[in-house]
Amino acid sequence: MPFDQLSTKLQEVFKQLKSKGKLTEKDVKVALREVKLALLEADVNFKVVKQFIKTIEERAVGTDVLESLTPGQQVIKIVNDELVSLMGGAQSKITFASKGITPIMMVGLQGAGKTTTSGKLAALIKSQGKRPLLVGCDVYRPAAIEQLTKVGKQVNVPVFSLGTDHNPVDIAKAGMEYARENNYDVVLIDTAGRLHIDEVLMDELKFIKSDVKPREILLVVDAMTGQDAVNVAEAFNEALGIDGIIMTKLDSDNRGGAALSVKAVTNKPIKYAGMGEKLSDLEPFHPERMASRILGMGDVLTLIEKAQQNYDEEKAKELEAKFRKAEFNFDDFLDQMRQLKKMGPLNQIMGMLPGMNTAKLGDINVDEKQLAYIEAIILSMTKEERQNPSILNMSRKKRIAKGSGRDIQEVNRLIKQFEQMQTMMKQFSGMMKGKKGKFKLP
Ligand code: GDP
Repeated sequence: MPFDQLSTKLQEVFKQLKSKGKLTEKDVKVALREVKLALLEADVNFKVVKQFIKTIEERAVGTDVLESLTPGQQVIKIVNDELVSLMGGAQSKITFASKGITPIMMVGLQGAGKTTTSGKLAALIKSQGKRPLLVGCDVYRPAAIEQLTKVGKQVNVPVFSLGTDHNPVDIAKAGMEYARENNYDVVLIDTAGRLHIDEVLMDELKFIKSDVKPREILLVVDAMTGQDAVNVAEAFNEALGIDGIIMTKLDSDNRGGAALSVKAVTNKPIKYAGMGEKLSDLEPFHPERMASRILGMGDVLTLIEKAQQNYDEEKAKELEAKFRKAEFNFDDFLDQMRQLKKMGPLNQIMGMLPGMNTAKLGDINVDEKQLAYIEAIILSMTKEERQNPSILNMSRKKRIAKGSGRDIQEVNRLIKQFEQMQTMMKQFSGMMKGKKGKFKLP
């Protein structure tokens, strides 16, 4: 999970700060030294850390803070503010042309996730009601165009290419022409990556830039490469000029040094973050939400957005009706579980809740397994059993245990939990009908 290591350390420092009623200048300095170490361990750029701590110190050791009623909280608030500003302040969105085509150039080194991210971004743009076209200009990496075509199919966005026998500049030009003729309004150009930055690559990108006149040049960098990602961003920005950064693999980066340094070093904002390998795993980058996650205050807003994206409203209404009539069965249970799973890995979801420290959530993965077991048990029931669980006798339960590969106790436990849930719902619906006194708390 992003920032896990840093988050754990900072929360420890702040716990100490909060436990003291009054703070002296020395207390703050000691705490900030710990913060500094934590940031350096997270691989944040040294100069960035120095400036960051200096700014906080200037703001925090003043009498306003130290003599306030909650000095610990005040210091945390300052750290939060500064983290937000370090990552760029307000969210930085991509902007679209008010009429005509918005060309977007996707650039980056090989393996950073450029092709996958082009697909993810196309899907996101499409979900905003636009008509994107993907253009495959990576004629060097073996199978890059095939990969883009595959990704395009998965997200249902057409891919324009001329194969590998053409010059990338010509392909980009032809792609724009094709978009104009076919009324596409956003063109995402997947340019060629290289293993290292070299002049030939930069020249090619400059040619495409001067020809296509992109509205946005987005650089894709891999968060896991830490300060290398920052150096790559600096080099691309100097040579080509970029408008924003997409930081991929943030899901696998528990340090977060690149994400925290890149804006300060290049003065270009992170616009999106890749949070997994699935094509739906791209999130707009919100500095304030990230800061909140780092400080263990959760990210409830992203959680709500995810729920809204994944929640089927019709189903929710149906469920509510069943809930009221106490007709909830195992099919509904399964539906609910699947809806939850669509929101992403459980530990990622839990990590967005305030007070949840994802580093300590390691055993949540077990729970993810539990979900799969529960699913297997329910799927081993017949349709009739799922809809009418009261017919589940011993021989049926044995059959289900065998079919799902789980032991009978587990099947019994699930049925028992389910029955308890049903009883509660009956009591609830009784209450809702105004039958007082039926619902008793255990
Ligand atoms: P390209 O060479 O830059 O076009 O890179 P690819 O798009 O082929 O991606 C390289 C690898 O990184 C693939 O295995 C992707 O699935 C993986 N990848 C890309 N983005 C992410 C991300 O946000 N999170 C994770 N975990 N993997 C990613």
